[in-house]
Amino acid sequence: MVDTLIVGGGTAGCVLAARLSEDPNHSVRLVEAGPVSIDAAQLLDATRMPIGPESTVVWRYPVDLAASVVGNIVRGRVIGGSGAINGGYFVRATAADFTAWSKELDGAASWSFDAVLPAYRRLERDHDYGDRPGHGTTGPIPVRRTADPTPLSREFASACAALGLASIPDLNALPGAAPAEGYGPVPCNVEHGRRVDTGTAYLAPALARPNLTVTGAMVVTRIRFDGTRAVGVDYLHEGRAGTLAADHIVLCAGAIESAALLLRSGIGDPRQLRALDIPVLHPAPVGAWFSDHPEIGIEYRSAAALASGAGIPLEYVLELDDVEIRPYAVSFTPYIHRLGVALMRPRSEGVLRLRSADPVDAPLIDFRYLSAATDRIRLREAVTIALEVLHGIPILRAPESIPEPTDAWLHANLATSQHLSGTCRMGGADDERAVVDERCRVHGTTGLSVVDLSVVPVPLSRGPKATTVMIAERVSEYLT
Ligand SMILES: Cc1cc2nc3c(=O)[nH]c(=O)nc-3n(C[C@H](O)[C@H](O)[C@H](O)COP(=O)(O)OP(=O)(O)OC[C@H]3O[C@@H](n4cnc5c(N)ncnc54)[C@H](O)[C@@H]3O)c2cc1C
Repeated sequence: MVDTLIVGGGTAGCVLAARLSEDPNHSVRLVEAGPVSIDAAQLLDATRMPIGPESTVVWRYPVDLAASVVGNIVRGRVIGGSGAINGGYFVRATAADFTAWSKELDGAASWSFDAVLPAYRRLERDHDYGDRPGHGTTGPIPVRRTADPTPLSREFASACAALGLASIPDLNALPGAAPAEGYGPVPCNVEHGRRVDTGTAYLAPALARPNLTVTGAMVVTRIRFDGTRAVGVDYLHEGRAGTLAADHIVLCAGAIESAALLLRSGIGDPRQLRALDIPVLHPAPVGAWFSDHPEIGIEYRSAAALASGAGIPLEYVLELDDVEIRPYAVSFTPYIHRLGVALMRPRSEGVLRLRSADPVDAPLIDFRYLSAATDRIRLREAVTIALEVLHGIPILRAPESIPEPTDAWLHANLATSQHLSGTCRMGGADDERAVVDERCRVHGTTGLSVVDLSVVPVPLSRGPKATTVMIAERVSEYLT
C-alpha cells in the first residue's frame, strides 16, 4: 500500500507527486488517465494548442454556456493535464483575490496574499524580473514575457497608451509595485519556444526516484471507503478493472473530473445522488456553484503582416479591474483576428452534476453565463472600451460599429476562457458552500483531499494556471 495515491497527473498532480516524493520515506503513486509517454514535440510547441478535433490528448465535454447557447470545452488528458495543452499565459492572481478568498475562510490568514507569496516565488524562475522583490529565480517553471512582440501586439500597446492607459511591464509584480490597471506583456511559462508544463518541469526530474510510481492510461472510476475513511480507488486500465489501496488519496483530476469522482463516490447532494442510485456517503455541495471567465469575441480583419512571427497565442493584455482584454496574436481564420473581452469576476455561477452513475457518461455542465444582470452590464461596457482600443489601431479594419452590444449580441458572441474552478470549494465545516477545508481535506471524510483548481472559493481575476501550481506547492507542505 502506498502512502499517497494521486489521481490525475495534470497541472497540480505533477507538482504534488514531485514534492511529496522528495521524502524518500514517503511512497507516492500517480495515476493518469492519458498517456505518460507522449509526442513531446507536438505538445510542447508553444505556438499551437493541440486541442483540435484530431487531438488524442483531451477530454471533450458538451456544455451549456448560457440560455440557448451550447458549446464544447476541452481539458488536457495527458501528463501535464490542461497545462500541457494551454495558452502558456502564466499570471498570478491579485492580492484582492486572496483578500476575497480569506473572507470565505472567516478572515483566516492561511490563504492571504502574504501566506501564498512564498509558494508563488518558489515555483518560478522569472527570467525578466527574478531579481525584483517578490520574485523567484530558481523554481521549476520558467517565466518570460515576449521580447519581440508581433506588430499587432505592438499596435495594441500603442493604442492603449494613446488612450492614457498605464503600462504594466510586470503583471506579476508585488501589489503596489505596478499600476493595478493597464496593459502589459503577458508572463508565459514558455522557454525556447516550448511550453513548459508541470510534467516537464516538476515530474520528469523526479521520475527516477524509487519511491515514485507513475502509471498512464489508468482511469480512476470511484473512491472506496471503509466507513468515511477513504482506503482506495477503483480503476480501469487497458480494458481491465482493478483496485488500488492507499493511506491517503488526493484527487488532482481537475475541476470537472475531481467533482465527478466525489459525486460518483457518494459525496454530493443526497437528493441528486439517490435519483441516480448512488449510495450517499456524505452530503456536500459538490459542483453546486462553479466559476469561469466568460469571453466575448470581437472579430476584425487585419493585414497578415500584423501577426507575422506570432510566437504565443497572447502576448499582451489590458487589465481593467474585473475585465481582461486579450488581443490574440495568432489568427484562427486567415486575415480574421479576435479580440477577447473576458469578465474575470462574474457574478453568474455554474452548476455541474452527474448525468448518470456510469463513469463513461460526461457530467452535465451548465455555465449559466450572463444570468446575472450585472455581468451583462459590465460586459457591454467592456466591449465598448475594447472597440475604442481597436479603433485606435489605424491600420486595422476594425468593425465599424457593433450594433449596440445588446444582450442578444452578447449571447451570439459568447465563449468561455476554459478556466472552470470552484466545484469543490474551500471553507469551514459549517460553511454550506464548502467541500474541503483550508488544507484541502474533504469534509466528512478522512484520508481524502482534493488539490487542484476545484478548491478555489472565489473567481480569480487572472488566468488560473499559475495559481493552480501555487495551490499544489502550498498543500504539498501539509501532506508530507
Ligand atoms: C484550451 C485551454 C487553454 C487554457 N489556457 C490557459 C492559459 O493560457 N493560462 C492559464 O492560466 N490557464 C489556462 N487554461 C486553464 C488552466 O490550464 C487549467 O485551469 C489548469 O491547468 C487546471 O489544472 P488542474 O490541475 O486543476 O487540472 P488539469 O491540469 O486539467 O489536470 C487534471 C488531470 O487529471 C487527469 N484525470 C482526470 N480524471 C481522471 C481520472 N478519473 N483518472 C485519472 N486521471 C484523471 C486528466 O487527464 C488531467 O491530466 C486553459 C485551459 C484550457 C483547457
